[in-house]
Amino acid sequence: MNDSRPLNILQEVFGYGAFRGAQAEIIDHVTGGGDALVLMPTGGGKSLCYQVPAIARHRGKQGVTVVVSPLIALMHDQVGALEEAGVHAAFLNSTLDTEQYLFVERELMSGRLVMLYAAPERVTNPRFLAQLDSLHERGLLSLFAIDEAHCVSQWGHDFRSEYLALSLLHERYADVPRIALTATADDSTRADIIQRLKLEEARVFISSFDRPNIRYAIVEKDEPRKQLLRFIRDEHEDEAGVVYCQSRKKVEETAQWLSSEGIRALPYHAGLDGAVRQKHQDRFLREDGIVMVATIAFGMGIDKPDVRFVAHLDLPKNIEAYYQETGRAGRDGGPSDAWMTYGLADVVNQRRMIDESPAEEDFKQVQRGKLDALLALAEATDCRRVRLLGYFGEASSACGNCDNCLNPPATWDATDAARKLLSCIYRFHQHGGRRFGAGHLIDVLRGKSTEKVAQYDHQALSTFGVGADRSEQQWRAVLRQLIALGHVVAEGEYHTLALTDSARAVLKGGVEVRLREANEKPKRGSGGKSS
Ligand code: ADP
Ligand code: ZN
Repeated sequence: MNDSRPLNILQEVFGYGAFRGAQAEIIDHVTGGGDALVLMPTGGGKSLCYQVPAIARHRGKQGVTVVVSPLIALMHDQVGALEEAGVHAAFLNSTLDTEQYLFVERELMSGRLVMLYAAPERVTNPRFLAQLDSLHERGLLSLFAIDEAHCVSQWGHDFRSEYLALSLLHERYADVPRIALTATADDSTRADIIQRLKLEEARVFISSFDRPNIRYAIVEKDEPRKQLLRFIRDEHEDEAGVVYCQSRKKVEETAQWLSSEGIRALPYHAGLDGAVRQKHQDRFLREDGIVMVATIAFGMGIDKPDVRFVAHLDLPKNIEAYYQETGRAGRDGGPSDAWMTYGLADVVNQRRMIDESPAEEDFKQVQRGKLDALLALAEATDCRRVRLLGYFGEASSACGNCDNCLNPPATWDATDAARKLLSCIYRFHQHGGRRFGAGHLIDVLRGKSTEKVAQYDHQALSTFGVGADRSEQQWRAVLRQLIALGHVVAEGEYHTLALTDSARAVLKGGVEVRLREANEKPKRGSGGKSS
């Protein structure tokens, strides 16, 4: 019982034979009193990275580990499992009554407790801090573990203001080691975590973020519901999955429609009654083959190993959100799908949400940059996984298990078309300095004599009618991709178009623009049952 070597604890307490990936290194570092920032994908085994050091240090008479987590369900599960394994653990959150609360406090102050889970707002409460002070004075404050650390970053997708106050743990207890963990953080979020939690001295452990069993596919939005139904029927009949929609209304409608088509679908969003939400969540976890149609309110802390697909009917906010949401598929390692439909309206909507938000301009700028990266992923004609991992700073080679690898999209040399479109925007600018939206631009390219064309004398432009050989739909596809590639931005209330610096390079020549074949019916990947 007193062997505090990590491997022994792993085997004796958790019943596992060996550490996985970077666990051993992280655990040694933290047990030895070092600070750590751990980036590891969902299912990678983050919990053990603080649980084992917590037990080792408690056995070494160093006292209690405080685990900060925003997820009440996860606290309950983990405390239950730890107690089951003979490790004295408890949680402090709003679900406790006074008597339970006092009991936990007593256990904490006695030094018997190995791990205490607490919600972030609890940790910075004065009464609790006074207790930590007392433990600290007696040398019984062993370690802080900060789970879901990306919540401290406003650049991330799940900012929680209570996390900001956690920097005081370092200010107040500088000698107590800290480990912060997250499954999702790009460069800017990482930098933000380090700065805001004062983790400059921490060693950073980055595990591979690859989830090789997930097949990524992004299809052009055509008739999204029917596309979804076909996808579920062809690939995932009677299997569990999550379908993400942006609005509550769309969640309701989609769940209803899937049900009417014979799919066992349930809605989940924050507007539903708590009891209904709980019931749907329980059914999803317990029964086989339930499809949960949900807003992003669903998913955090849900640990169901055999989710076979995650579908997006709307574009998520950014790649981090996309990666976290799709990461809920296939935790058991079995083949799974991340499938998304995407169209021009998604781009416009997401941009509008950023433009119209009350945030500061530099914040919006970061959000726009993140959206652009997601759009580039959606429009990519090469390996999705290479792009995803690349976004998180990880180099890899073509995966053979994404739509683009399995079924390379037809592309065409759109350099000439792109230059026509870009120079048309440039001419607008020269000819009166006004900006216009997509509709008018395409009318001018196609040489249509509309009222607006007459009003601005645009038939006089050299680009008037240079694109008569393409349909309106083809031009829309070209424009969408040029926006996604970052050559054009659609700004303001009317989404008027402007060129970026990179457009100049295309206009000057020397840059080849290859785009996805327009109007192509999305094909199924050939790796699944449909081959
Ligand atoms: P994360 O928090 O990173 O999503 P968890 O800590 O929940 O991941 O771990 C995911 C699963 O992997 C859990 O069921 C856990 O018990 C298991 N696991 C973690 N580390 C090991 C290991 N070294 N050996 C065997 N199973 C492990
Ligand atoms: Zn690939």
